[in-house]
Amino acid sequence: MEIALQAISKAYDGVDRPAVSKVSASIASGEFFFLLGPSGCGKTTLLRLVAGLIRPTSGGIAFDGEDVTELPVDQRGTALVFQGYALWPHMTVLENVEFGPRMSGASRDARRRVAMEQLERVQMAEFAQRKPNQLSGGQQQRVALARALAAGTRCLLFDEPLSNLDARLRLHMRDELKTLVKETGVTAIYVTHDQKEALSMADRVAVMNEGEIVQLGTPEEVYSQPATRFVADFLGEANFLGGAVAASGDAVRVTTTAGEIMVSSRTAPDVGSKVQCCVRPEHVRIRAADEGPDPSLENALEATIVSSVYLGDVRQYVCRLGDGADGEWRVAELSQNAHRFEPGQPVLATFAASSVALLRT
Ligand code: ADP
Ligand code: MG
Repeated sequence: MEIALQAISKAYDGVDRPAVSKVSASIASGEFFFLLGPSGCGKTTLLRLVAGLIRPTSGGIAFDGEDVTELPVDQRGTALVFQGYALWPHMTVLENVEFGPRMSGASRDARRRVAMEQLERVQMAEFAQRKPNQLSGGQQQRVALARALAAGTRCLLFDEPLSNLDARLRLHMRDELKTLVKETGVTAIYVTHDQKEALSMADRVAVMNEGEIVQLGTPEEVYSQPATRFVADFLGEANFLGGAVAASGDAVRVTTTAGEIMVSSRTAPDVGSKVQCCVRPEHVRIRAADEGPDPSLENALEATIVSSVYLGDVRQYVCRLGDGADGEWRVAELSQNAHRFEPGQPVLATFAASSVALLRT
């Protein structure tokens, strides 16, 4: 099912600032779509609008082209998959999955057939006679999805479903849940404030801040080409350097006080405009100053090592750019290939034109 959000807004009674403000997006059929942002940015509100649990103040929602803005929650065919999965503990797996069809009056044979079909879809048919407490967390999750699908769900909605789990289990469940959702082929919207969860699971991510979508793209796009400083910071560590556009077009050149930066930008900024260049720590390679620039990387800024910390997988450097007035950058080098640099050593911070994002300031 395809979902269209059409300039949808929601202001809660007695609250001036809307929780969700003119959000538009279209979610493709079968897509695993993420809403990512800090606490309070409006993710849950947007999900509840899609579910039909609350009504928008303005704007609308369409499912497969049909306006569902006024459709009550039980007629939308959406299912919020809650934390803990909320299976009935006293019922077997099969009875749990039959629950939806039973409520809508399906005959005994029909509901059994539907339930077994969905249990097979999530590879849980052999557990049909077990009780939920005889299943692992991952298996309960599968049953919860089968139950939602048996009840006619056309869209699965997840609100931070993994946030109560310990770190190790959460990692495991990420993979499991992603595989499962993609296998069902159902459109799904997943809310999280955890950027790693979103980057590792999503087909596309909508990064939200203060009720608005600030950027929408694939995980690679939002991570490596953030549109704003907020997105750059929220998705991970980032280095910044301000400058002015000296040349535009296919190859963009930015003049900064620490040197010239080449950017392979998708958009051509106006010559003379002020921009922020953003480079991720793992996209920078440190070289000894006397080695000279790396011919395969377009950019080389003079810098001095401030600190060097071994973190097992990577060695993290902090280096001061230029004469020191241009700020500090963080660099993460895989420790296995790291030639080690010492504090005080003059170096070059080198990086490709393709790893620079130009931010709207
Ligand atoms: P998130 O899920 O991203 O943490 P929410 O959608 O829960 O954000 O909340 C967005 C904003 O709306 C917050 O400022 C929150 O305090 C406010 N809010 C949420 N629910 C209500 C409500 N029922 N009444 C009034 N304000 C609410
Ligand atoms: Mg929330």
